Amino acid sequence: MSDIAHLPGAAGGNRLHGFINAFTALLERQGDEPLILDQGAALLRELLAVDDWLQDMHARHDPLRYQQFLLHADPAGRFSVVSFVWGPGQATPIHNHTVWGLIGMLRGAELSQRYKRCADGALVRDGDAARLEPGAVEAVSPRIGDIHQVSNAYADRVSISIHVYGANIGQVQRSVFYEDGSSKPFISGYSQPDMS
Ligand code: FE
Repeated sequence: MSDIAHLPGAAGGNRLHGFINAFTALLERQGDEPLILDQGAALLRELLAVDDWLQDMHARHDPLRYQQFLLHADPAGRFSVVSFVWGPGQATPIHNHTVWGLIGMLRGAELSQRYKRCADGALVRDGDAARLEPGAVEAVSPRIGDIHQVSNAYADRVSISIHVYGANIGQVQRSVFYEDGSSKPFISGYSQPDMS
């Protein structure tokens, strides 16, 4: 049964509101990360199944850098929802999150390359890059693998993914990594939507 469809806000195409309500309810009944990721992924797949809810101001790309628009910050700081808008060919640095995260594809496609640490401290690619097509969801966390680099799979079109994290991710102190294993502190913040 759909959790989203039975919650207030789901009517009239306000799917995001229904998703936020359902995710809040999930976190109120569930504190176990594997179950949050499993049940949260099901909610996210449901949100992604119909692409009619993302406001244009949260879907605009910037030719210079990928955009991270805050869609919702839980008042208690338990989670946040962010739209990532990738211009053609744009990519993140190698980075971590320090909290659990769910990444769901809404439009276009993206590539996620995981990294792992070697005994000598260097970072190496952990398998092949995963390609996420619309509707696909992947998870990250310090428990299951938290370091990756994400890029738009397309060189000639915009892609958009919807991310959910177990904190107000724009304020989290985390790290950017280099392949020699060195790192620097990183706080992502959020992009400011153009309201015009
Ligand atoms: Fe990431």
